[in-house]
Amino acid sequence: MTTRRPWARRAAVTAVSTAALAALVVPAEAATTTTSTSTTSTTTAATATVTATAAAAEDVDYATWQQDCQAVMDQALPYLKQRTAATKPGEKQAIVFDVDNTTLETDFGFSYPQPANKPVLAVAKYAQEHGVSLFFVTARPGIIASVTDYNLDHVGYQVSGLYVRGFSDLFKDVATYKTAQRVDIESKGYTIIANIGNSATDLSGGHAEKTYKLPDYDGQLS
Ligand SMILES: [Mg+2]
Repeated sequence: MTTRRPWARRAAVTAVSTAALAALVVPAEAATTTTSTSTTSTTTAATATVTATAAAAEDVDYATWQQDCQAVMDQALPYLKQRTAATKPGEKQAIVFDVDNTTLETDFGFSYPQPANKPVLAVAKYAQEHGVSLFFVTARPGIIASVTDYNLDHVGYQVSGLYVRGFSDLFKDVATYKTAQRVDIESKGYTIIANIGNSATDLSGGHAEKTYKLPDYDGQLS
């Protein structure tokens, strides 16, 4: 049985393209850190409340991925409508997003700037039009922060903050690093009403009222 898996080829190509992107702006030795966004963790986030119904991985193509993302965002939007309508006096609401294969079409968008993941952009736009600040927490290394910030802004996200991994963060596991950034956002007075990502490591660790898990197809999408 040799079922073709187009997503797997795309994921491999993307790893190369991300490295190439970094190579444009950094010395060669720094580019070696760009593969650190991938994870093989299969841990299920205990706090995840909404999870994509993953199709069999062999069947995943772009249309399936988009349908799976839309199904999760179809649950996020009604919650956001209700939550933003119930803003408490003085409350600063925020949503935290992962970047790769969450807000951007990383593994399916072989181009730069990478296109927005449309179902997620629609939810983000509703939020930003209703006073919610958008924060982006990515395992991408700091060396490509500016191209990431430009990319997010270019496709329509209003970036209130972009957290990338500094040198010392490279020695922490991704979930610990990402949780620490949410603590930092809270320390600035924000209430994180939702955390949206496609990997378990985006969502574990608390510090969000709700979590929404997009598909990663058993770790195949970073
Ligand atoms: Mg991701």
